[in-house]
Amino acid sequence: MNEQVKKMAELLRSGATMLQDVCPTCGSPLFRFEDRVFCAKCGGFSSKVSDAPKSDNTEAVVAQLTSTVLKKLMELDVEVNKTTDFEKLYKLAKVVLTLLKALELLARLRKP
Ligand SMILES: [Zn+2]
Repeated sequence: MNEQVKKMAELLRSGATMLQDVCPTCGSPLFRFEDRVFCAKCGGFSSKVSDAPKSDNTEAVVAQLTSTVLKKLMELDVEVNKTTDFEKLYKLAKVVLTLLKALELLARLRKP
């Protein structure tokens, strides 16, 4: 038991995060380190954890998507400024609207 506590402390010191989820095998708290989740007691990477910390993964995906969408919107802004072709403008506007909608949805997902 002492060993386990020591190991957990070590993990936390090395930058691992203790998760709210517990190991499906032994019930110890799970740790996340560099995008991998594992149990300090059983050791090794828990196979089940890919389900357990789903919220964390979603958060990462949402953050990634948000930055991608924002980048695209900035590119589109340049295109919209450049274009004098209204048909093209219409197409661009549709894409802008779609991306803005996506941003809105992503923002909603970000809320806890
Ligand atoms: Zn375990």
